[in-house]
Amino acid sequence: MPEGVLVVIAVDLVVRAAYVLTMTEGASPLRGGAIAVDAGRVVRVGTAQSIDAQYLAKRTVDVGNAVVLPGFVDVHAHVSQTFLRGRQNGVFGAGPFLPFLVTDLLTDDRVRLFGLAGCLEALRYGTTTIQASLTSMPALAEAVELCGIRAVLAEEVCDMSYEDAAYGRYVHRPGQADVQLDRARLLVEDWHRSASGRIIAAVAPLAPDMVLPGTYRQIARFAHEYGVMVATHAAQSKFEMQRVAEIQGTTPIRYLSDLGTLGDMTLLAHCLYATAEDVAIVAEAGAAVAHSPRGFLLDGVVAPLSDWLSSGIRVGLGTDDVTHSMWETLRAARYAAAVRGDRSITPYQMLELATLGGAAALGLSGEVGAIAPDLKADLQVVGCDGPEMTPMSDVAGSLVENGGANVNMVFVDGKIVFGPGRETKIDIPRSLDDVREENGRLWLDIAAKFGPELSIDQSR
Ligand SMILES: [Zn+2]
Repeated sequence: MPEGVLVVIAVDLVVRAAYVLTMTEGASPLRGGAIAVDAGRVVRVGTAQSIDAQYLAKRTVDVGNAVVLPGFVDVHAHVSQTFLRGRQNGVFGAGPFLPFLVTDLLTDDRVRLFGLAGCLEALRYGTTTIQASLTSMPALAEAVELCGIRAVLAEEVCDMSYEDAAYGRYVHRPGQADVQLDRARLLVEDWHRSASGRIIAAVAPLAPDMVLPGTYRQIARFAHEYGVMVATHAAQSKFEMQRVAEIQGTTPIRYLSDLGTLGDMTLLAHCLYATAEDVAIVAEAGAAVAHSPRGFLLDGVVAPLSDWLSSGIRVGLGTDDVTHSMWETLRAARYAAAVRGDRSITPYQMLELATLGGAAALGLSGEVGAIAPDLKADLQVVGCDGPEMTPMSDVAGSLVENGGANVNMVFVDGKIVFGPGRETKIDIPRSLDDVREENGRLWLDIAAKFGPELSIDQSR
């Protein structure tokens, strides 16, 4: 080929923006940037000029005065609990614990519908990967396939009666965990790496006070056999600490470690009450921690985020409760760190936790969490035309202070899943109508089963 002849490479898509924040190490926001995408993955990031010179795109999307950054990775959510919207009162508020009380009323249809609302909300706030745990995950997988989000779905396994647990009672329910493990197997066999690889299956033993040692061991074998992740709550409540101390004579973390459940494929949600020795055990085992500050802040409890980070533990952020905006979660994480006396964590580091950190916690580094060659083209676009982003003197700082409702476009695998030109086929208004209708039916069932004091007034 003669020298000086420029070879132009055909790609599916080029996204241009006023700023590209790649979240790759050491990179500052790229002004007038562009991202070349082919077959769902990023090919190259550079100035719009350099990308135009090198690539011929089938389609160019110019998002104008906006920041393109990686989609968020939410490492801990229960998206099917959206029927509790508007009733968030901390994780351990007064009265029965509603998520447990209602578990037995959650049919596959309900999990699919309420979960769809949660996934659509997550996408709407720029989350492109979500780790969701609950019962009936094969049903949620259908919603995930439809709406275009990427998800790590973990089937919940629990030995105790949910209804009794809602009132703080531990009552063994023989056979329940077996049924749930069978469903976990079904989830793995039918859905693992399906929907063009967007769905990843996992298993979720509920918590050390709710799962018996034999079941944890069975789950460890199951996870090893299929090569899937174990996502469990741990050291999340004083009840759990007390119960595990009484029955097992140790802390929840040491209990998990003694059972051989802790490893680099383990994700521990919350760890609020982990001792210094527990933190060392987690770090040594190479397990990851899901930091979900919001619900616990309402309870007045704050986790030691900086201790985990300084121990070298992989940490991601999780929304956990009934709302799924990672923007609110990363702000809460910032305030929570300050309450613990740590004001050294920068806005940029918060964005890192919500992107690279989450990817690492889910074992998806090298797939998602940054905008870089070979990674999935999972992107969010934050508009900067509004008053809340004007003027902007520090991109990461402005995003962390005011990102949220101004997310105006989201891509997963290089496809638009939220915003103008959306490529998913789902009829969103109609789906949300279905969710509202089902919500009415569910709360009637709840009132019929548990008494009228738990009904909702739908006239307001
Ligand atoms: Zn949780």
